[in-house]
Amino acid sequence: MSEHHAHGTEPSSIELLPIELLPIDTAQASSDFVDEWRNAAYNCYSSGHKFCREVCPVMQVTRNETWTPTAFHANVVAMDKGELDIADIAEDYVNCTQCGACELRCPNTLMLGDFYRFRTRTVDLVKAVRTLAVDTGIHQPQWKTWNELTDARSHEPVLGEQPVGQDSVREWADGLDIPIGGDDILFVDCEAAFYRTSVPRAVAQILQMAGHEFGLMQEQWCCGGPAAEMGYRDQAMRFARHNLDNWKASGAKRILVLDPHDYISFTEDYPKYFGAEFDLEIVLVLEVVAEYIRSGALTPRVAIEKTITYHDPCRLNKRKGVWKEPREILRSIPGLTFNDVDHVTQWSYCSGGGGGLAIEKPELTALISGARIKKASELSVDTLVSACPWSERPLSAAGEPENIDVVDIHEMLAESLGITVGGSRGAR
Ligand code: SF4
Repeated sequence: MSEHHAHGTEPSSIELLPIELLPIDTAQASSDFVDEWRNAAYNCYSSGHKFCREVCPVMQVTRNETWTPTAFHANVVAMDKGELDIADIAEDYVNCTQCGACELRCPNTLMLGDFYRFRTRTVDLVKAVRTLAVDTGIHQPQWKTWNELTDARSHEPVLGEQPVGQDSVREWADGLDIPIGGDDILFVDCEAAFYRTSVPRAVAQILQMAGHEFGLMQEQWCCGGPAAEMGYRDQAMRFARHNLDNWKASGAKRILVLDPHDYISFTEDYPKYFGAEFDLEIVLVLEVVAEYIRSGALTPRVAIEKTITYHDPCRLNKRKGVWKEPREILRSIPGLTFNDVDHVTQWSYCSGGGGGLAIEKPELTALISGARIKKASELSVDTLVSACPWSERPLSAAGEPENIDVVDIHEMLAESLGITVGGSRGAR
């Protein structure tokens, strides 16, 4: 993990674009922020039960009370009372993977949400604080570098010294004969396009085997989601604008998504940015593939003799409620011994790879990944299957000393379909 991000943030030969400070009035911006979040802050049960902090992956490994959903809401009350300002609290909000566990566990969500017509939105609150910080000139050093590099290259600095840019964004597809454009466009996130190229190669070949026609973008940029998660909202919107214009120019109707982080960007961020203009259908590849298996268009036949469990990516399970289809796919693969746990108990499972935590605090991500791998090892498995490329690097690093291999679900399915995937599972 540290190798990943150390590389990603090493000084680069390319010139960094300065992140512009907006001519923003800090007092006004803070006041607007408090106005927006006051109700949510006072609705937080901060003084009592503390359910939510126990499912928080950051709290689990740090026991730091200032890095909890409870504290994140209480700070807004303190800002409302004039006791704290954004400069006092910005750094605390680094310590969140935006997994959404606390939102599910909150009594507002569990018991009272319907009555009060209120739902806890800690992830949005964390994003809002980070955005306020950036807009008022408060930057976290690694996030600033990361976003400057992303802006310069149009893609995240996934591999640092490796060629990350427009010239190489489609290299993962070499030899696969995928056209440019079409009704269905496959969007491949930066980590998969430049690092774990075996994942998009598996996805593309599975879709081709099922007879699903699709193409690639003329000029794909980063989805902008990570920038939005770290508070660089203007940059995120510029990237989103580029991608939307590119899709529209090529007449795309559907965007096929293999990465849960992109899925969040396209189903939650883009509609907020563009409103009715964003009229494309966003399709999760896992759901399409599960349907092809149900209909008999795909039949896994090659036995895979492994003992596995499944890692529910937070952005699929906790945030989008997608947990059945991956299990359907895994149960269709012959030879597998699948030691599953009820998906509900997965609320507190997280790789630590999300929300920019791995960029600013790789040591915390490593602790969270280690805790996740420990839960897998208690099930006596040799393989942890994930459906999120961004989780697979930190989980692989944590799994190595435990002799637990981390495999992407699309790769495993491709193997059972008799496909020779090719590509790379990343530098080891
Ligand atoms: S979203 Fe996840 S990491 Fe962030 S405070 Fe809630 S439980 Fe913790």
